[in-house]
Amino acid sequence: MGTLRITGVETCLTAPNTQRLIVVRVHTSEPGLVGLGCATYTQRHLAVKAALDHHIGPYVIGRDPNDIEDLWQGMMVNGYWRNGPVLNNAISGIDMALWDIKGKLANMPCYQLWGGKCRPGARVYRHAGGREAAEVIDSVRRIMETGCRHVRVQLGGYVGAGVQARPKNAPEGVYFDDKEKLRRLPSLLEAIRNELGDEVELIHDVHERLAPIDAVWLARAVEPYRLFFLEDLLAPEDIAWFAQVRSVCSTALAMGELFNHPHEYVPCVTNRWIDFIRVHLSQIGGVTPALKLAHLCGPFGVRTAWHGPADVSPVGMVAGLHLDVSCHNYGIQEWGVRTADEHEMFPGLPALEGAYVYPTDKPGWGLEFDEKVAAKFPCDDSNPTWTVSRLPDGTLWRP
Ligand code: MG
Repeated sequence: MGTLRITGVETCLTAPNTQRLIVVRVHTSEPGLVGLGCATYTQRHLAVKAALDHHIGPYVIGRDPNDIEDLWQGMMVNGYWRNGPVLNNAISGIDMALWDIKGKLANMPCYQLWGGKCRPGARVYRHAGGREAAEVIDSVRRIMETGCRHVRVQLGGYVGAGVQARPKNAPEGVYFDDKEKLRRLPSLLEAIRNELGDEVELIHDVHERLAPIDAVWLARAVEPYRLFFLEDLLAPEDIAWFAQVRSVCSTALAMGELFNHPHEYVPCVTNRWIDFIRVHLSQIGGVTPALKLAHLCGPFGVRTAWHGPADVSPVGMVAGLHLDVSCHNYGIQEWGVRTADEHEMFPGLPALEGAYVYPTDKPGWGLEFDEKVAAKFPCDDSNPTWTVSRLPDGTLWRP
């Protein structure tokens, strides 16, 4: 056998469950040896596909798929400017596929390549929500009945309608009242604790929709309810405010799904501003940087909680799962229950079993991808609307 080569890169767009997913297949000169990666930036799917088809794919074709680190560094600097969300996701698609190939070459699941298992499976948290406290409590109770004891609680979806009047000629957007969370979240948590007691671990996602000083106030106000963590309290541009949050309370903090660049996550870790790092794996460039980040976090007492809702493809979820079981400083995994269509499209995708998800012992990710099923779920190419949120006076808010 001659030197192994990458012979092709295929970018597949599919939307089996409302979210557009980007799945990358890397083909090699060895017949049947194919790797799967996740490049899902669901809001800019066509830009990621173009980056893969016209730039990143041609860069790696003809190279040896064994050289993951060198290929990752090359994909990052080949275009000179680097670390944007489109490029990082495109790189991730190749990077995860190369790790899948590496596992298949070694005849090992990827977690074995990284030191083996620290735990049999990944404990997960799930999402509960409602318009009023009573609905949220019912939703938490239903999740607890499945055996899961870590629950994210949200009131009124992303945002609250609020009580403030709109201005004349209010521009289009999703309006929210930034003070509503301050008014309602502490009493929601109190109601949950009164009703369900202390034996449930609670999470709340702020979705970066607070002014920094309000974020400091909120973290302190919810301290008595002992959250498992408070998620994405500040926008990436405001991370230095975590020092103020730390100085006034011991509420556990998780941060990172919007991060692209090491300059965003490294200070959060090395200043011990946060307790959980929850980047979107494909958004930082895949498994290669995630392994480095997880290892950086360990000595600083920061645990991993990779982003895992429906806008991560099953390939990305399984890549995170292999990190979860092999990294000692694992914290928890967000796991949106995947649909029957997704299970049909990705044979080998593990299902949630109570509070846990378990990787298979098949080589690589242990996943297949059925493109005939994927073709049944074409993507629509519309722009998202939920991302354009506005304060009551019409000002556009940057999450
Ligand atoms: Mg979040």
